[in-house]
Parts: sequence; C-alpha cells; structure tokens
Amino acid sequence: MSKIIVIGSGVIGLGCASYLTRFGHEVTLIDRVEPGRATSYGNAGGIANTFVAPLAMPGLMKKYIKYYLDPEGPVSFRWSHMPALLPFMYQFFRNCRPERVKECSEALAAFMPPAYEAWEPLFKDAGLMPLVRHNGGLWVYKDDATLDKDMPFWNSRRNAGLEFHRLNDDELRQSEPAVSRDWKAAVLEPDWHSVANPFDISAGLAKHLRERGANFVQAEVRGFEKGADGVSAVVTDKGNYSGDKILIAAGVWSKRMAAQLGSKVPLESQRGYHVTLPNAGLETRHLVVVGSAKVAISTLNIGVRIVGASAFPGVDAPADWSQAKMVLAWGKRVLPDLNTEGMTEWFGERPLTPDSIPVMGRSPHHKNVFYAFGHSHMGLTTGGITGRLMAQLMSDQQMPIDMNPYRIDRRY
Ligand SMILES: Cc1cc2nc3c(=O)[nH]c(=O)nc-3n(C[C@H](O)[C@H](O)[C@H](O)COP(=O)(O)OP(=O)(O)OC[C@H]3O[C@@H](n4cnc5c(N)ncnc54)[C@H](O)[C@@H]3O)c2cc1C
Repeated sequence: MSKIIVIGSGVIGLGCASYLTRFGHEVTLIDRVEPGRATSYGNAGGIANTFVAPLAMPGLMKKYIKYYLDPEGPVSFRWSHMPALLPFMYQFFRNCRPERVKECSEALAAFMPPAYEAWEPLFKDAGLMPLVRHNGGLWVYKDDATLDKDMPFWNSRRNAGLEFHRLNDDELRQSEPAVSRDWKAAVLEPDWHSVANPFDISAGLAKHLRERGANFVQAEVRGFEKGADGVSAVVTDKGNYSGDKILIAAGVWSKRMAAQLGSKVPLESQRGYHVTLPNAGLETRHLVVVGSAKVAISTLNIGVRIVGASAFPGVDAPADWSQAKMVLAWGKRVLPDLNTEGMTEWFGERPLTPDSIPVMGRSPHHKNVFYAFGHSHMGLTTGGITGRLMAQLMSDQQMPIDMNPYRIDRRY
C-alpha cells in the first residue's frame, strides 16, 4: 500500500483515485477547484468507447482552412497565440500521414474499447447507475451522398471490428423523432453509453471516494520539492504535501507541471463550448452527433446540451461567446423546435496532444512521478479505463497492454 497524491480532480483524476483506493492505496487529491468543476463539468456526457480515430486525419489541413474561413465553422484561432501554437500545429498536421493515422488509431483502439466496462464497477459502487444510459450514438447526415463521402471513416471502424448500423430516412425518423426532416441519413453506434449529467458523475465519484477515506485538499499546486528518490513534496499555496507516489492528472494544465519536472510535452487546449437549454421543450433519445460540424447534442437531467467548437486560443484565454452561438445555431438546424429560454453558456479546455493519444505512464526523470492527461475530447469516456491502467502501473502489476505508445517521452 502506498500513499499517493493525485493532482487534479477532474474525471481523469477521479477515475484514477477510484481505482487506486480499490487497489488499497491511501489517496489524497489536490485541486484548486471543487472536483469536476473544470473541463469535466460541461461535456456532452458521452461514453463513446468506439471513437478510436485520432483527430489528425489525411486531408485535415484543407478541412481546417475551410472550417476557419467559414464564419459558422467549428475551428478558430487567436492570432496573438499563433507563435506559441505553430510548433504544435506542425506536429499535429504531421500526424495526418496515413502511416501515423494507423499507428495512432491502433494506440487508441488498444485501450479504449473496454472504457465503459472499466467505469461500471465504479458507477455501481458510487450509486451512480441511475445516471447511466445505454442509448447509443446517432450520427446524422444531410443525405446518403454526404454519408457515402464519410464511409472511409466508417470502414476504418468496421476494419477494427467495431459495430455500427447505417439508417435510412425512415429509420432515422423512427429512432430520433425530434431531428429535422432536413437530415435524411444516419449511422447508429449501439455500443455508446451516456450519463445524465457529467458534473453529477464527478461529484458522485468524489463523494464515494471521501466515504472510502480519500482526502481532498483544495489548493493551488505551485511546484515540487525534489530529493534523491524523486519528488519529495508537492508545493501548494496551502502548504506542502508528501506522498510515496505523485500522479499528475491536471488536464491541460499538466503541461506546466510536467515541464517543472523535466518533461516538455506538446499539449494545447482545444477549447470547446456548450449551451444548455433547461426548457428545451423536447428530448433526444441518443447522443446525436453532427460530424460535419463537430457538434454533439445530448439530453441531460438539466435539459438539452449542445456541445462543439474547436478553438485554439491558448489555455485560460478570454472566452469568445460567438462560438457558443455557433454551437446553438447548429443545434437548431438539427432540432428546429428547441426553446432557448433560460439557456446557459460555458467553455472548457480539452487537453490535446498532437497525436490525439493521452499520456499515461511514468516520468522518465523522477521514479515516483506518474502522468495521466491529454484525453482531449474523450476524457469522460476514458476516465475509468485510464484509472484502472494507472492503478495497475502504480501498483507494479503486469500491464494488460503495451504502455509504450502513451509514454510522455514518445515521438509526438
Ligand atoms: C464541449 C466539450 C464536450 C465534451 N464532450 C465529451 C463527451 O461527450 N465525452 C467525453 O468522453 N469527453 C468529452 N469531452 C472531453 C472531456 O470533458 C475532457 O477530456 C475531460 O474533462 C478531461 O478531464 P481531466 O480530468 O483531464 O481535466 P479537467 O477536468 O480539466 O481536470 C483537471 C483539474 O486539474 C486542476 N488543476 C489544474 N492546475 C492545477 C493547479 N496548479 N493546482 C491545483 N489544481 C489544478 C483543475 O482545477 C481541474 O479540476 C468534452 C469536452 C468539451 C470541452
């Protein structure tokens, strides 16, 4: 049994802490905000375990330019951040080469498929199953011709042995009656689960962790004290905390901490926005995805939430609420009867690596330091499986998969 400090109580830190306590370790979580209040607060609630494609794909640069030039496109940049962003973008676009896409997809497919299975025991223990639905994901398309153009993407899933069903106009109407008749083709991913409220999931996991004896400290991590055997203390604005092992799971903010510990990681915020409509006046049965606009729609216990946008303004840059308006406009194209009264807007910082593969592993410089961050648009999906893998690694168990593709010092 070890004394472990987990920095970050987003859904990744909580998934890791939950498995670490199950493995018998004594866990302290340090976060400057309430558990689940940062990026993990406002996602779409999808547990999309078949989403094993990296973001960087052949033709992406052309697509990004098109999206950027379209005022309603999902991609945006902040020019003052460009000099800092360029090296990342260079690495990101290099990963669009087919041989890299294959390697990155294989690395994602090696750990993601059991994502829900890893969450389920944690949700059951924490009494969270009433929030979980096995309702599938529904990708909507304007027509068959548009869907046909996307078939290389779907065929790559088929080649990976993942199940999906193509729906025609009638089948789409029957399975999702709220969707506008302008959308005439769809693909159903039956494996997906979703949660009725991502924040309730984080809060529920945190409550259960407290009941099992985990300690929560609300403090800002400032740095680390280093000794002969690795990191001897985590330095915070509320004092120093020591543990046998330290796990950095601080989302996009992990970059600075890793740099303090000798590891330079290309990690950027791919900022996303949501609008939540408490009086939407309708419900969706599935997690509905508009692939062409990078928008997803989900019915939560607090209303209909529409998420989207792929903005690169730099971490903690001011909000650009026109992105939330764009997300809402797309939602209305799919669900024209939406009532927006009482709508709230939000943004969160998806932690993105250039190869879309998260970092899960040991520090090459400090033997008691471990990392789990960079889960981009899939952190809720993969929080449980990341937690299980990290608990196995940090307990010196034999690993069920090769962990080399997730090393912090890999070639990005
Ligand atoms: C619009 C949107 C929709 C999304 N939809 C989905 C979806 O449907 N399904 C899915 O799987 N994923 C989705 N995601 C992605 C998912 O939300 C993220 O991958 C996930 O939340 C990342 O979790 P995390 O724990 O790594 O980061 P965070 O939730 O950001 O947690 C990191 C924590 O570290 C803390 N921290 C940072 N620095 C310090 C410091 N110096 N001191 C103390 N604490 C610190 C922060 O306060 C924070 O609480 C979506 C994301 C967005 C933005």
